[in-house]
Amino acid sequence: MKNGIHPEYYRTTVRCACGNEFETGSTVKEISIEICSKCHPFFTGKQKLVDSAGRVERFKRKYAKFNKASTETKTEA
Ligand SMILES: [Zn+2]
Repeated sequence: MKNGIHPEYYRTTVRCACGNEFETGSTVKEISIEICSKCHPFFTGKQKLVDSAGRVERFKRKYAKFNKASTETKTEA
């Protein structure tokens, strides 16, 4: 390795908003994330909306009149 051109490499703790932590290697000592493989709906298989700006709410209000019937009959699976 050439001297002076490589950044420091740390054992890094990654902290998720859901409380999950795991270690990895990085050039920064700590990483905070909002979503990880423990809580992302793709991995949990659960329906969970990742909504930060109320967009889902706005969408639901806008289209409420179109799917009044279908929202009542929706199942969890
Ligand atoms: Zn998480």
